[in-house]
Formats: sequence, structure tokens, C-alpha cells
Amino acid sequence: MNVYISCDAEGVAGISDWEQCVPGQKDYKLGRELMVGEVNAGIEGALVAGAKKIVVNDSHATMINLIPEELHPRALLLQGSEKPMSMVTGLDNSFDAVVFIGYHSMAGTSAGILSHTYTSIITEVRINGRQVGEPELNAMMAGWYGVPVVFLSGDESATKEIKKFVPGIVTVATKKGLGRKVALSLHPEEARRLIRRGVERALRRYKEIKPVRIKKPIKLSVELWMVEMADMVAVIPGVVRTGSRSVEYKHNDYTAIYGMFLTIMRVAGQVKR
Ligand SMILES: [Zn+2]
Repeated sequence: MNVYISCDAEGVAGISDWEQCVPGQKDYKLGRELMVGEVNAGIEGALVAGAKKIVVNDSHATMINLIPEELHPRALLLQGSEKPMSMVTGLDNSFDAVVFIGYHSMAGTSAGILSHTYTSIITEVRINGRQVGEPELNAMMAGWYGVPVVFLSGDESATKEIKKFVPGIVTVATKKGLGRKVALSLHPEEARRLIRRGVERALRRYKEIKPVRIKKPIKLSVELWMVEMADMVAVIPGVVRTGSRSVEYKHNDYTAIYGMFLTIMRVAGQVKR
């Protein structure tokens, strides 16, 4: 069994502020240690369930958060910025199951710890009219390759979000949001214990969880923070302006949809704020 783990930071137990997960910030060292602790728990659970190959995609910020020596030696580490497909780079049909660790809920979620969708300049994303965040966008990429997402750990709002999207998925809520930056969190050791057990349980029955299917043609709708951002991305061939701050793009191939979403974000990110 080959397992792909995509890990973020905002959903890790003990993290409730950007100071703990943005490189260069005061408590970043603490945040990256908490992050690798939960990733290792996931790897341990996967090994117990019989995983042979485990790839960990460090999917947060600069994507060089996980300290190689601290990562479980049985996993391969995919690290570094400028990953063409970002949080799902290297994911393909050679994997049997996907695991999300440290995930957060979509932009605008109330009481979603550090909720956002990729960056603060993206205020809303829809696929075929349905509002989505990172858990769903990435689950659809796995589904495109016929691979199920079997496990997600993150704050309670992220677990609720993915359950509506992936029936049967195993989740672990590491903390509960009492505000966007206010968390009632499990102790890191307790979160790791639950993740270890949850990943094992999810992978033992990965064949029972269906890969996410998407109806074609696939429509991507993106709302941006500033009008200038929509001005800039509306000239990308195939992108259609649908409002002062919103654009749309259609394609039959989800890899093109995901790639265009990233392109829109990257181009819009160049606008002066
Ligand atoms: Zn992140």
C-alpha cells in the first residue's frame, strides 16, 4: 500500500496564531515541532496498517517546515517551494490512499482556526457552484486519480467540512475554535495518539472509501479580495470575468482546473496591496 500524506500547520494541536506557523515569526520553531509530531504519528499509523511507501508533502507556507532528521525515517519527504501543483504535487494513481494532517477550514469559516483558502487574497472558491476550501480542492485532485482521501486531522471545523464532502472519511479534531484565533486544544501527545490510531483505522479500510467524483465540464469560480486582482487574472486565456472581483474558468480536466486556480492565485498575488 502506497500512502500520500499532505500536511499543513494551521490544524495542528497547540497552534492558534500565525506567530506559531509563519516562518520568521516568534514561535515558528514551536509550530514546526508540533507539526512534525503529528506527521510522525500519521506515519506510524500508516506503517501499522501495512503501508510500504509513504510520501509526505510538506504543504504549508514555504513548504520547508519539516526538519528532515526529525521526520520518521520510513517516509520520503517532498519539500521546497515552487511546487507546480503545490499541496498535491506528486500525487498520482500510483498511490492507494491519501491522508491530510494539520488541515484547516475554508476561507470565511466562523470559529475555524486560521481558516483560509490558500491565501488571504482568495475570498471564495467554488467548483461546479459548491463552495470549497483546501480539503475539498485536494480531495478532488486525489479523486481525479481514483485515489480516496481516507483521513483528515485538523480543527473541528475542518473535520466537519470534509465529512460533508467525503462520506466515511475518518477524522480527528485536534482542537475546537472559539474564534478564528482562539483554540481549545488537545495536548499534543493526545492529538498524536488519536492520529496514530485514526490513520491506522482509516487505512485498514481504505477500499471502502470512495474517491471523490466530479461532474464534467468542471467550472471553477474564484472571488478575489481586490478589483485589481480580477483585472490582472481576467486576461489569462480561458478565464472569464464574472464580476468586479470574480472570475470563472471551465475545463474537462481537473488537473487543468487545479492548475488554473493556482495560476490565478499566483498572478493575483503580484498585485500591490
Ligand atoms: Zn498552511
